[in-house]
Amino acid sequence: RAKDSGRSRFEYYTPDMDAEREERHRLEIDLRIAIERQELNVVYQPVVSAQDGRIVGVEALARWNRRGYGAVSPDVFIPIAETSGLIDQLGLFVLHRACETVKRWPGLKLSVNISPGQFRDPAFPQNVACVLRQTEASPAEITLEMTEGYFIQNADRAKTSMAELRRLGVHIALDDFGAGFSSVGYLRQFGFDRMKIDKSLIHALDQERSAVDLLHATVALARSLDIPVTAEGVETDAQVLQLRLTGCDQLQGYLFGQPMSADDIDSVFRRDERRAIFSLA
Ligand code: C2E
Ligand code: MG
Ligand code: MG
Ligand code: MG
Repeated sequence: RAKDSGRSRFEYYTPDMDAEREERHRLEIDLRIAIERQELNVVYQPVVSAQDGRIVGVEALARWNRRGYGAVSPDVFIPIAETSGLIDQLGLFVLHRACETVKRWPGLKLSVNISPGQFRDPAFPQNVACVLRQTEASPAEITLEMTEGYFIQNADRAKTSMAELRRLGVHIALDDFGAGFSSVGYLRQFGFDRMKIDKSLIHALDQERSAVDLLHATVALARSLDIPVTAEGVETDAQVLQLRLTGCDQLQGYLFGQPMSADDIDSVFRRDERRAIFSLA
């Protein structure tokens, strides 16, 4: 763990480490219980058109309010779910809940995050098919977001799963592009339906001149492969300006809305007669 870097490796087994492992174990137990009792929540973040600020979709994000502790970040509990065999159940719960909920908003697209651990399961496409049947959600309105790690490590298996998911009619987006290795090679090989540019690159736009060039190059790359681009983590008008110049077609970030409850998404619509419009820079 980064926390331990800088310390001598002879100090690896410290009471500190035991405490950490113990705490992780307790987290895992509580997470298992929370999943079984269906205590996890799903929140929805607006995705808007870069052209006119109209809300075009939502991204579903898991939330866990741990009893006696409060909110635990997905960056903490998703990896725990991955390593403790809970991710399939957690992921299907989120997908099911989100597919059920999005029916409240006809015309809105839904994005749901998928972990490598879920994608690795050969039964995953069948499980998705099952949720689609149960919720009567329309596959064409659904995008599964995945990060690059899995594609690099398991190219063949990933291609098979992707083909099966495509046959169901769902779309597949590459999430967090620009955060890792982000090679052109697999971008071409896998034929993603959408690319999401990682928020670290968007935030850098306000800080480094080179980030603007990198953004332009990234969007140009996506366009040359006919892959539409969503920018995530948009927080400032200056970022919107840059992003519109490059030809990103969708924007997402705190500037437009935090991830929120389904009821709060309802009020976004009520504010604007079922046509929520955010003002763009
Ligand atoms: P992600 O899929 O890249 O989701 C975007 C993250 O950026 C979310 O964090 C969102 O709240 C945050 N975000 C959105 N707009 C802004 C902004 O303007 N500024 C900043 N600083 N952040 C913004 P969150 O909800 O904490 O989720 C973190 C990650 O956890 C997600 O990244 C995703 O990889 C994972 N995750 C969340 N829910 C699920 C889930 O249901 N299943 C799986 N497998 N992973 C999930
Ligand atoms: Mg995502
Ligand atoms: Mg992302
Ligand atoms: Mg992320």
